[in-house]
Amino acid sequence: MSELVILGSGTGIPSLRRGSPGLLLISNDSHVLIDSGPGTLRRMLETGVTYRDIDLILYTHIHPDHTADLVPILFACKYGELPREKRMICAGGPGFKRYFQKIKRFYGSWIEPHTYPLTTKEISSKPFFFSDIKILTKSMAHLPESVGYRIEWENGKSIVISGDTDYCANIVSLALETDLLVLESSFPDEKKVDGHLTPSLAGRIARESRCKRLLLTHLYPICEQYDILNQCRQAYQGEIILGEDLMRVKI
Ligand SMILES: [Zn+2]
Ligand SMILES: [Zn+2]
Repeated sequence: MSELVILGSGTGIPSLRRGSPGLLLISNDSHVLIDSGPGTLRRMLETGVTYRDIDLILYTHIHPDHTADLVPILFACKYGELPREKRMICAGGPGFKRYFQKIKRFYGSWIEPHTYPLTTKEISSKPFFFSDIKILTKSMAHLPESVGYRIEWENGKSIVISGDTDYCANIVSLALETDLLVLESSFPDEKKVDGHLTPSLAGRIARESRCKRLLLTHLYPICEQYDILNQCRQAYQGEIILGEDLMRVKI
């Protein structure tokens, strides 16, 4: 049984209701973190999972609202009361290794691991196998190096995570018939911004991909003034979950 925990359903704009982007996927014995916006590390403690438990971090892109807690995670792994021993992999789309080298150059030995093996990886068009999961990526319409992830289990179940994106054919094909489609839904229909989705565009992607369930996240504070669920329902008649911090969804 696998479970998705929403650590932050918001964005980079501070909100008392919604933390910055961070999703935790608990699958058998492995813990996969997808993005680590500011506050993710502390929020994760509320779910009973610590920086020592994370096996793999997948980054959708390097905007600060999705990556800001990477340095604090590495710092905690090094200076926590119990030294981390198990392997950790940090992965992202094209250019991720360069980004990682840059922060390593800047923070030097403060984040350099000594007690555990750390691997960085750029996931390309070839699938990446980790523990009991298979990870596929496609580029998204946000930054040139943005990627969305499709995670598949041997039992045929899958989850797809868009990260930040605008409407594009890639997210529809990546999400084809998935069990749980996690889409960003940054702004209400009336306030569309390039490079981001609205609830009705998210609904359109859900309809076209024939996903089983749709979960909306990455909600800017302005979304609280609109009926996001209803806007999405106009385009998609299936089950829609409006993401909230610390919500758990079984896959
Ligand atoms: Zn974002
Ligand atoms: Zn972004």
